Amino acid sequence: MCGVAAVVSLNNPELNVLPDLLRILLQMQNRGPDAAGFGIIGLVGKPNLQWKKSGSAKELFAPSEVGHILDKFSGSRPITIGHVRYATASERDADNAQPHHFGVGGQRFVVAANGDIPFCDSEQTKLTRIGYQFESNCDAEVIAKWLGHAWLNNGHNEEEAFQEVGKTLSGAFSLVAITPSKRLFIMRDPIGFRPLWYGLDKSAGLFYVASESAILQKITGSIPCEVLPGELIVVNPFTATEQIKKYRFANNRPQRFCLMEIYYFSRPDSFHSEKDLRTMHELRLNLGRQLGKEWKAGGYPEPELVCPVPNSGTASAQGFALECGVPYIEAIFKDRYAGRIFLDPAAERANRAFTNLSVIAGYVKGKKVAVTDDSIVRGEQSIDVARKLYAAGAEEVYWLITAPPYCYPCFFGINTPDPELLIAHQRSIEELQR
Ligand code: AMP
Repeated sequence: MCGVAAVVSLNNPELNVLPDLLRILLQMQNRGPDAAGFGIIGLVGKPNLQWKKSGSAKELFAPSEVGHILDKFSGSRPITIGHVRYATASERDADNAQPHHFGVGGQRFVVAANGDIPFCDSEQTKLTRIGYQFESNCDAEVIAKWLGHAWLNNGHNEEEAFQEVGKTLSGAFSLVAITPSKRLFIMRDPIGFRPLWYGLDKSAGLFYVASESAILQKITGSIPCEVLPGELIVVNPFTATEQIKKYRFANNRPQRFCLMEIYYFSRPDSFHSEKDLRTMHELRLNLGRQLGKEWKAGGYPEPELVCPVPNSGTASAQGFALECGVPYIEAIFKDRYAGRIFLDPAAERANRAFTNLSVIAGYVKGKKVAVTDDSIVRGEQSIDVARKLYAAGAEEVYWLITAPPYCYPCFFGINTPDPELLIAHQRSIEELQR
């Protein structure tokens, strides 16, 4: 899971838009704390550039660091792209940070992508056999190399190269790229696994792209547009007419938006889609209401309070409380400075789970407690929290989950490739309850 963004100055090619991009990356840290980076258009006659490092956007673009970065990339820079990374398929080191590039003779594609290519290794092997060398095992480098390869073979037609790769490469990719002709290319895979939005601030003449619609809505003051599955958008700040061109290279594939975006990853204030302008928070709250309806209809005992696993169960606990008329109480407390546990390597995970969440015993002692969470993936968090609730004296604990059982691995950008680690894999609901 990652986040991508881009900024283009449409009215003034002299402008440097890097500060605007860094502000967006800082607001998108929910999508990845492992690394951050950006690509930026080269000065006249110079190649496009990139910068990336391990660490969160907050650390890398802290006030003490950012002056130095902006000095290094000063001058007229009307196009920039950016990336925040949550390491899924490849290791969490600086080599796998994004953007990645493809370059020949001072001509450079710089690419930042969200989503995983499931057959990345075999794509890399194919490209290595044709003679390309890799500095990472990241999907975005595979995409950059395929784009460059297609472009070299088609007489340097960038639009065609993107559409060819978009049609043939199988996997999840919501991407932004700066090309040798110094234009911004935006592309979303035909299935539409990962979100991608764009918006325009007309008065400032700035065009924006981001994985989170909420950020664009805040900046531009209007509802952004979705990059459609199978769509390519090309933005050219150096022309007076037709600055934004759109191409649909695939529009008849079934679309499968990632459910974990809805349950968990996306910012609560982002929209589901252009066709469904409900925010993720509203959807999560409605899921909690639905749990409440099913709870009442199932004739289960009435809980004395409903309490969310912070923060992933908050909206659904609110919905459940509204539906069932049960008090909503935040009896589970999260140390927000301890970070998100699932992002840590497995060995660290158990320890962190132990220290990260604690129960306020006074609220739960002798009570029937309903707990909500978005999903159970490995089951470690639910087991840990249930134990803590009983240890704090809860009489009964009911576990309410909005997502269906997470039974199978995902190879499209959620870090769950091994079915053996999924607690719901080959287990019935009764076994899960036990
Ligand atoms: P657990 O069942 O212990 O794996 O923890 C589940 C919690 O972590 C839920 O809130 C999930 O939404 C969240 N989570 C999100 N993504 C992942 C992931 N890739 N692996 C594990 N847990 C995840």
